[in-house]
Parts: sequence; structure tokens; C-alpha cells
Amino acid sequence: MSDKNDKRSTFPLPLSSVTGDKRAAPAFSPVKVATPQTATRNAAGSGIQGGQGGGQNYVPRVTVAPARPGDAYQRAQPLPVIAPRPDTGVSDAIRRAMVGRVAKQGVQDGVVLKAMESVQRHRFIEPALSAQAYVDASLPIGHNQTISRPYIVARMLEVLRNGSPLTRVLEIGTGCGYQAAVLSHIAKDVFSVERIRQLHELAKTNLRHLRIVNLRLHYGDGMLGLPQAAPFDGIILAAAGLEVPQALLEQLSVGGRLVAPVGAQVQHLQLITRTGKAEWMSETLEGCHFVPLRPGTV
Ligand code: SAH
Repeated sequence: MSDKNDKRSTFPLPLSSVTGDKRAAPAFSPVKVATPQTATRNAAGSGIQGGQGGGQNYVPRVTVAPARPGDAYQRAQPLPVIAPRPDTGVSDAIRRAMVGRVAKQGVQDGVVLKAMESVQRHRFIEPALSAQAYVDASLPIGHNQTISRPYIVARMLEVLRNGSPLTRVLEIGTGCGYQAAVLSHIAKDVFSVERIRQLHELAKTNLRHLRIVNLRLHYGDGMLGLPQAAPFDGIILAAAGLEVPQALLEQLSVGGRLVAPVGAQVQHLQLITRTGKAEWMSETLEGCHFVPLRPGTV
């Protein structure tokens, strides 16, 4: 794995040490269905908010934390009007094959692989793209955003877990809710923040039928973290900034791990471990390609 080449140093690192790393990304064999770029382009016109009516009765059990006075991260949320994704009958065997390919690319953590096998990725994307749900590609989810490639989701979760159980995890960038659902299988409590209100609503709709009781969705600017739920022993970012926001570093518990894509045109996964009250260690891992981390809410 790339880990033997990974750089170790005390945080903060100069940005150049992240973005200037010219090591080649690991040899993937992505099927040419949608690249991150085409997925993002496609996303602009995907109009998936309409969804397709499933006509099923769902019990709203995904916990969306209620607003509290003075809580900048909470907004009163109307019940979503987006119809849930129908089950298009994609078989478990196809998903198992996807997980097999992820394992072949180097992900070894059995807990992560099992979680990936448990979550029906096709239920998080628009029906027109269902046929591509188990290909190792990012796909558009609307609003110029993408659901990440299965491999990168698995790899980041493996790095986050580091072979140990996770207690309290914060995800920045809920998107369609897929990674949050996978996370709910590997952590005791999961909090996920999304800055685009319509994607927050979409994730609620996608997740409702799963009745995940250990997942809380928040609408807000994840660059500020989620101080009311901190500290976290794991933080994972699904969008790339030029650096990891300070607020997130401070919301890690000592010994906690943060995994984030960092960079602009050239991006790498960065693993930051909080080693003391005022001490963080940073390691640069493999190359990646994510949508940008943006401030504020829309
Ligand atoms: N984990 C998601 C990936 C979504 S793409 C999935 O499984 O679908 C990244 C997401 O990060 C986008 O939805 C984008 O709106 C969101 N994002 C970007 N900057 C953010 C911020 N500051 N706070 C919260 N979400 C952010």
C-alpha cells in the first residue's frame, strides 16, 4: 500500500508539502462510465430532486436533531417532499462483486468491507443511473455534487478506523447520505453535516427507510464542525479544502483521527491524528479527486 511512503510530520504542515507531492496515485482500474469531472458536469443538469415515487410508507426514524436555541447549526426543517428512491432490484451479488473489487484495490478492513456490502448504493442515486451504482465511479447527485467512488469511501473509512472501533464520528458533506449510511455500520454514533439544504433533504429522504438510529443529519457549514456534539474520535471530510479547517482539528479528541482530501487541482488524502492537547500529526496519503469544500450554507 501507499502507506509505506507516507510522510509523517507534526501539524501544521506547509500547504506546499501537501499539494506539491507528485507521487502517482495507486493504479486503479476504473470503468469509464463517469469520471469525477463528468459526474460533476452531469450533476449540473441532473435535476434529481424530483425523484421517482416509491409509493411506500416510511417511518421517519433517521434522527434529525431538533433545533436548540442559540445553536447556529440547526435550522427548523420541513418534512421533505422528495419521493424516496425505489428499490430497482439490483442484486446483492452485484454489490458483493463491487466490494470484491474494492478489496482487490487494497482495502483490507473486513469491518469496512462488510459495511459496504450492507448498504444498497443504488438507492442513493437517481434511478436513471442505477445501472452504474456498483461501478467504481463517482456519480452526480445534483447541485454540482457527486457521490464518491466506492473505493475512496472504503479507503477513507479504513484509514479512519485504523483497525479500531469508532465511537463518535463527524462527516462533513452528507451529500446523498450514502457514506453516512456506511459509517453508521462502523461507528457507534454518526453526525453528518451538509451545507446545501436540498441535499440535506435528499439525504433525509434516502436514509429514512433505513431507520438508522445512530445517525444524525445537520444542515450547516461543516467547516465550523459541530461543537455541540464534539469531541469526535473520527472526522471525515467528503469535500476538499486547501487546508483542514482549524475548528475541525479542535473538535478531535486526543487520539482521534481526521481524514480529508486536501488540495485544489492536485489533491491528496490527509490523515491528521491529534496526539496531544495542542499537538497534531499529519500524514499525506494517496492522490484523490473531490468536489471543493465551501464555506457557508445555501
Ligand atoms: N458523502 C457524500 C459525498 C457528497 S459530495 C455522499 O456519500 O454522497 C461532498 C458534499 O460536501 C457535497 O454535498 C457538498 O455540498 C458538501 N460540502 C462542501 N462543503 C461543505 C461544508 N462546508 N459543510 C458541509 N458540507 C459541505
